[in-house]
Amino acid sequence: MSERTIAAIATAQGIGGIGIIRISGDDAIIIAQRIFKSITNKDISKMKGYTATYGHIYDGSTLIDSGVLLVYLAPNSYTGENVAEISCHGGLYVTRRVLRAAFNAGASMAEAGEFTKRAFLNGKIGLTEAEGIMDIISAKGEQSSRAALGAMDGALRKKIDAIKNSLIVIAAHLSAWADYPEDDIPDVSEEKLSTELSQNVESLNELLSTYDAGRVMREGIDTVIAGKPNVGKSTLMNLLSGYERSIVTNIPGTTRDIIEDTVMLGEIPLCLSDTAGIRATDDPVESIGVEKARKRVKNADLVLAVFDSSQELSDDDRELIELIRSCPSVAVINKSDLKTVIDIDYIKSRLDNVVMISAKSGTGASELERVVSKIIGTSGLDPSAAIIANERQRDCAVRARDFLIEAANAIVNGITLDAITVIIEDAVSALLELTGERATEEVVNSVFSHFCVGK
Ligand code: GDP
Repeated sequence: MSERTIAAIATAQGIGGIGIIRISGDDAIIIAQRIFKSITNKDISKMKGYTATYGHIYDGSTLIDSGVLLVYLAPNSYTGENVAEISCHGGLYVTRRVLRAAFNAGASMAEAGEFTKRAFLNGKIGLTEAEGIMDIISAKGEQSSRAALGAMDGALRKKIDAIKNSLIVIAAHLSAWADYPEDDIPDVSEEKLSTELSQNVESLNELLSTYDAGRVMREGIDTVIAGKPNVGKSTLMNLLSGYERSIVTNIPGTTRDIIEDTVMLGEIPLCLSDTAGIRATDDPVESIGVEKARKRVKNADLVLAVFDSSQELSDDDRELIELIRSCPSVAVINKSDLKTVIDIDYIKSRLDNVVMISAKSGTGASELERVVSKIIGTSGLDPSAAIIANERQRDCAVRARDFLIEAANAIVNGITLDAITVIIEDAVSALLELTGERATEEVVNSVFSHFCVGK
């Protein structure tokens, strides 16, 4: 247990019905006793775990608020330590005032993520679960929060444990065989060893393939809406945003600036920018916008290229088609409610993904979602399955996999089994780092520094 007893506001900072101040550490109950008086005169130091009492909150002799004190006793709490949670009235002033009372009574300020870090250090959760908790707090969409729940429940750790355990068995067998040649340990068949190694490489590759889709679900896809003026870019953006965002007009070239917004296309979070049309222009203000748009298109994760189905393809349209041929893109043929004039076959011959839509009425939006999900690779994603969720986890998994590939090559090259055992142990080490069982203090600190205070 840590010597410092920490306190922080656990609820969001802002106006709400209830605010919770969480205190954790050896002295949590003593500190609660100093600032909380039960209306039934209950002796707080004798409260059982998981029990609550109603009363008044004081700073010294000053009454601050009334509220509920909930007591958890070590090790049966979130952090594994004694924990007191005081629910008071929400609102910035009151919650901060209660927190100050806790400080005055002996608690110190919790660092970002310190509650969860203590839970980790006390063996309550693994590092990947902790990262899952962090992801849940910041999850944007339903699918990403389900994925984070999966991580919190240990989906990734279970998968990594399975791989790790199988490697430990292999390494142990190899060591035993090398160390006790006179004993009756079955021979190590190189073929069997190779098969087992490649099975584990495959499992790791499978996990690694979830990384990009997982990242996308969490952070959103950097998306550009491009197209010449008046094809309906703002209208499409408004459809996706669900409210009037950019000004829809029928004067070409009005959307000069790039407007950023995160919207949900079904389950997929898109970080949208409504860009200026891409076309030749003499207007200096507009040409800056056009140049910006061209750059954005090239750098985006996804381009929604909008065309007006009621008009012939123009040179600007053709230029846009050429610009996005090498990008992940969807040709959105808009105004499908009007008579089709545009040469769809030409577009289909140049671009793989073509969707008819009416941004005005919303027809075709679900088809657009299906196509985007296919391009981004989220269509086959099972959000509750194990997912590599961040760069730290990915780095460990890549190192483990590369060690296993090295070990497999070493077998082919006739390297001694002793040396191969060492390489397999390196792979195990990388996996132990992934789950946090053997993470350095630096790694652990960096994971928790991303949390908000109060978690
Ligand atoms: P932008 O310049 O590309 O952003 O185009 P806007 O979104 O401002 O739309 C230009 C005009 O096309 C507006 O008058 C819209 O009402 C109209 N428009 C947009 N989408 C549709 C659609 O699906 N059907 C029809 N009939 N008109 C549309």
